[in-house]
Amino acid sequence: ETVEISARETEAGRRAYELDRAHVFHSWSAQATLQPMTVLRAEGSYVWDGEGRKLLDFSSQLVNTNIGHQHPKVVAAIQEQAGKLCTIAPQHVNDARSEAARLVAELAPGDLNRVFFTNGGADAVEHAIRMARLHTGRKKVFAAYRSYHGGTHLAVNVTGDPRRVPNDFGDSGVVHFMPAYPYRSYFGSTTEAEETERALRHLEDMIVLEGPQNIAALILESVPGTAGIYVPPAGYLEGVRELTRKYGIVYIADEVMAGFGRTGKWFAIEHFGVVPDLITFAKGVNSGYVPLGGVVISEAIYQTFAERAYPGGLTYSGHPLACAAAVATIEAMREEGIVEHAAWLGENVIGPGLREIAQRHPSVGEVRGLGAFWAIELVKNRETREPMAAYGGSSPEMNELVAALKAAGMLPFANFNRIHVVPPLNTSEADVRRGLEIIDKALEITDRYVA
Ligand code: PMP
Repeated sequence: ETVEISARETEAGRRAYELDRAHVFHSWSAQATLQPMTVLRAEGSYVWDGEGRKLLDFSSQLVNTNIGHQHPKVVAAIQEQAGKLCTIAPQHVNDARSEAARLVAELAPGDLNRVFFTNGGADAVEHAIRMARLHTGRKKVFAAYRSYHGGTHLAVNVTGDPRRVPNDFGDSGVVHFMPAYPYRSYFGSTTEAEETERALRHLEDMIVLEGPQNIAALILESVPGTAGIYVPPAGYLEGVRELTRKYGIVYIADEVMAGFGRTGKWFAIEHFGVVPDLITFAKGVNSGYVPLGGVVISEAIYQTFAERAYPGGLTYSGHPLACAAAVATIEAMREEGIVEHAAWLGENVIGPGLREIAQRHPSVGEVRGLGAFWAIELVKNRETREPMAAYGGSSPEMNELVAALKAAGMLPFANFNRIHVVPPLNTSEADVRRGLEIIDKALEITDRYVA
């Protein structure tokens, strides 16, 4: 036990809460009714709330701290970089940026060897789409319903999540299609093979009807995260790659959440043996210790901007503190075998543990995932699959469940009718098992609402 919270710290936490409510405007929230949780400290797989209570972080802070909180090697690298050079304009060469780009290019599949750095995921998505539009001379973008790609203008418009709707004025050039989602098939499929075939036929029909000559890009999360961690059925991403190649469409794999080890491989798309044209990343690249995202670019798209200027940029592109954190994170993940540990946890602890939980609890409709990236989908009825909360909504049942998880000492990631099991990738087996026990016990609450 290295963390001790003093009375002075909890007092400072109370003051922070008051100031927050007076002056901080929060994301995606009704400001006056929000009751945010104060976090005083964090270490490894734990956070301490405003009262100094220790909570197991099964959220990884929006699926972000893949390497856990306050990893000493990453903290030291940031401190060292801060002592040397905190910031530099993007047009200058910087050793932290050069090394971070080399490492990301080395990890990325195929001929994706150039990195444009951004401040996070949404601007990575914006830039990837801009590159695709300039590369093809086309405008439309294909994106999946049931996706999340970010909160800025174009990124929220490509998003399929209902949070898009209040931001969508129909002028973004985005066309949404139904993705393969075996548990709630839009095509009435009863097997995965059928789902793959029907979802691909639907996608090709839409491409043809929308006019391939107008379609610049198709963006797809390799394993959709916020929308439900629904792993694509066999053959689906391979089929998407074939269709995009056939019609000259740039394939953007959004790996902002699934990338950097979350699924037990460096990039989730490696599970499917597919090489896209562009990859967007953020979060896990440096576990969010300093904001960083980016786009990894194929040789063909790089060549479009070899002689002609790329018309876009950001003051903080390749920020030294963020890049130093990325280099240290990637090196520590390699040295400590953290990606392998995530794969092992998924196969041996989380997967089997959740399948057992599903057998015991009638409110569990489905469990699914890879690595340290799993979802428990809760239903009121297993036959009809009626969700415990509507897609895009909340419900008293889900709120009660989340409160119980917190009371039992866990910080969960809850989204609509799902609890996501997304701890830091280097969480110990014992801590993961403890988390699963907390979930197992708490699900007695939702079981009571099963019809
Ligand atoms: N794409 C995906 C797949 C994401 O999960 C997210 C964030 N949850 C984003 C893009 C947006 O990233 P950011 O919030 O860093 O802008």
